[in-house]
Amino acid sequence: MEKTTTLSGLPHLCDVEHCTYCQACSSACAHGAIRFETDACGFAHPRVDADRCVGCGLCEQVCPVIHPPAAGGEPRVLALYSKDDATVRSSSSGGVFGELAVHVLDGGGCVFGAVARDGRIYHTRADRPEEVEPMKGSKYVQSDVGDCYRQARRELAHGRQVLFTGTPCQLAAVRTFVGPRLAEGLLTAEVVCHGVPPVALWARCLRLAGIDPADVDTVRFRQTEVWNYRSRLRTREGRWRDLFFVPDVYMKLFMRAMTYKPACYGCPFARLPRYADFTLGDFWGIRSSATFRVNRRGTSVLLLNTARAAEVFSAVADRFVAEERDLREALVQNPNIERPTARPAGREALLADLTTMDGAVFVRKYRLQNTLRNYVGYWLRRLKS
Ligand SMILES: Cc1cc2nc3c(=O)[nH]c(=O)nc-3n(C[C@H](O)[C@H](O)[C@H](O)COP(=O)(O)OP(=O)(O)OC[C@H]3O[C@@H](n4cnc5c(N)ncnc54)[C@H](O)[C@@H]3O)c2cc1C
Ligand code: SF4
Ligand code: SF4
Ligand code: SF4
Repeated sequence: MEKTTTLSGLPHLCDVEHCTYCQACSSACAHGAIRFETDACGFAHPRVDADRCVGCGLCEQVCPVIHPPAAGGEPRVLALYSKDDATVRSSSSGGVFGELAVHVLDGGGCVFGAVARDGRIYHTRADRPEEVEPMKGSKYVQSDVGDCYRQARRELAHGRQVLFTGTPCQLAAVRTFVGPRLAEGLLTAEVVCHGVPPVALWARCLRLAGIDPADVDTVRFRQTEVWNYRSRLRTREGRWRDLFFVPDVYMKLFMRAMTYKPACYGCPFARLPRYADFTLGDFWGIRSSATFRVNRRGTSVLLLNTARAAEVFSAVADRFVAEERDLREALVQNPNIERPTARPAGREALLADLTTMDGAVFVRKYRLQNTLRNYVGYWLRRLKS
């Protein structure tokens, strides 16, 4: 995206169509001049307070949409999963994140990742293995990075290695935020990302299902008994609820790509070559392979995009069942490695209905009830687990 300077001297940041809500700009502003405005769906874009802004331009410099960092090279592609079954069980896919995190902690570094706690999805820092546990598992809701970019910069300045994990836009942001001087200690591991809805839409879907978001403690969007999607949440009283029967409107709309941030449909980071050292995803395409023994609880695709990623991986390679594969195979059923999700027709009308319509009417209108096929699939997976 082209940078344009405003006549007022105020920085020109992204509009709601381009803003990824990575929060690099607000993290960089030492004057507290940036806040985020949200629309009815919770889609955000930054607003600059003219009374506080001193026109230093730092926020524009760190915006990865305006100034993307340098991309990596041609990736090496692996199909893999951790040899430690407990790590695979506690992760969404093959447990690559968990193994990388342990490696960095063992070397005295720290790890940043997303957790779901107290009804919030947010980034935090782990200095001990037990703090990595809640970071495991995909949370399909926008994570609030809080002051994590600043913390990461501080740790790097103290000479500590930092593994920062998150969506590709957050990792492009941490790289521009930290800058080239401290880049050497920073390792970045991004998830393949088809898009993320804002927390307001998650809350709206919970209310629509008769659940008060204030009662939610944590959520698991994928269950590890099988390599598939099924949401369960834990209330503040400690009771687990399976959302399949509600029905799970949030995940149904997520899978239909209806609720992502507007920027996701033109995501500048969904491309090859990638911007992070590591790219982690699900190796859906490997299911058809004859040579690799797939782990049905989760088999990951791992892209090593930089020389540093290859070096770190060689130090942890013996923790995995792994095989080098062809990039074309990884792209099967995983197009977001190389391009953004297309904006589906009817999205705007659906979102307008979602924010205004009675829940039952909405569910009927958009055919979100469970079908016989859904029920059969659900019980078959439960029997197999
Ligand atoms: C929003 C989202 C969309 C995804 N879309 C795809 C896809 O289209 N195709 C695909 O192959 N894989 C996708 N994934 C990645 C996949 O689900 C696994 O997370 C990934 O393969 C890593 O698995 P793992 O077993 O190594 O680690 P896990 O233990 O599953 O680790 C989870 C990692 O994801 C990070 N994370 C979790 N939730 C969030 C969040 N809300 N925001 C930022 N970071 C988060 C954690 O910090 C951690 O690093 C997506 C993940 C997320 C979070
Ligand atoms: S130009 Fe400087 S002071 Fe103004 S909003 Fe950006 S970072 Fe803050
Ligand atoms: S993309 Fe990130 S840095 Fe750029 S304006 Fe949006 S939140 Fe700020
Ligand atoms: S699709 Fe792109 S913009 Fe959207 S959350 Fe993922 S990385 Fe960020």
